[in-house]
Amino acid sequence: MTAPPLFILWRGPLASCNYDCPYCPFAKRIDPPDLLRADRAALERFVTWAGQTTDRRLSILFTPWGEGLTRSWYRTAIVGLSHLPHIDRVAIQTNLAARVDWLADASPRVAALWATYHPGQVTEDRFLSRTRRLDDLGHRYSVGVVGLPQHYEPALSLRRALKPSVYLWVNAAEGHLYSEDEERRWTRLDPHFGTSVRPHPSLGRPCQAGETAISVRGDGEVRRCHFIDTPIGNLYDGSWRAALRPRPCTNRICDCHIGYVHLEPLGLRDVYAGGVLERIPARWPA
Ligand code: SF4
Ligand code: SF4
Repeated sequence: MTAPPLFILWRGPLASCNYDCPYCPFAKRIDPPDLLRADRAALERFVTWAGQTTDRRLSILFTPWGEGLTRSWYRTAIVGLSHLPHIDRVAIQTNLAARVDWLADASPRVAALWATYHPGQVTEDRFLSRTRRLDDLGHRYSVGVVGLPQHYEPALSLRRALKPSVYLWVNAAEGHLYSEDEERRWTRLDPHFGTSVRPHPSLGRPCQAGETAISVRGDGEVRRCHFIDTPIGNLYDGSWRAALRPRPCTNRICDCHIGYVHLEPLGLRDVYAGGVLERIPARWPA
């Protein structure tokens, strides 16, 4: 196997969520049955492709618009992919509302979760019951919050309750300007908050997205990342292979971790080595 490992962000049509976060356009959305069927078929097609693409090592992050783990096909996909020898990582962004016992069937070497705590939607006790089960099962996960002022006390309390070995990240809230004091106190909670608090100028800068990282939609259309809308190929006709090459970023800024972690001047692939997709720094506890 000579080709470099490939990071894949996958997003199908699913957009429904069981939570009702005031800062989210997908809150309490209900997907019609035909959309759910389409999401399931698209995911199963992708899993088949990933299983057959054995000439390079793959790391996969599912980034549904809504919540995936309440759907059996995401759980089945993660369990199945976690046992394939050429898959380094399979992870999903989740609100951790659903029980996690199914992960007992997945390989803890490969499966991981990017979990977000949404105070107001779930009690701390309930959220912690999920993280404790993950601890029992020995699975990797990060936990994070959106850095809104009203989330600070709940985040602090959660930090105290989590095992020190669990990394808690804080995402800068969209449209919120942080004072120096605010930035300082969030940074005390997440030493990497400085990476999230301001968007990164990215225009013309080299980014691994489109070379060793791609974004894939349900129909197999491949883009460099979730943030540049121009397709560069398709997974299922093989055109993605010829499309992979170094390119500078064509967007003015990049302000989402799942994008700028590949922006070369930031060096974040080293910071998160071994945990790029589930957002766990290599040196944690710091
Ligand atoms: S849990 Fe996530 S997808 Fe669901 S409403 Fe909240 S922010 Fe949106
Ligand atoms: S810097 Fe961000 S927007 Fe630009 S190519 Fe990379 S991931 Fe995409």
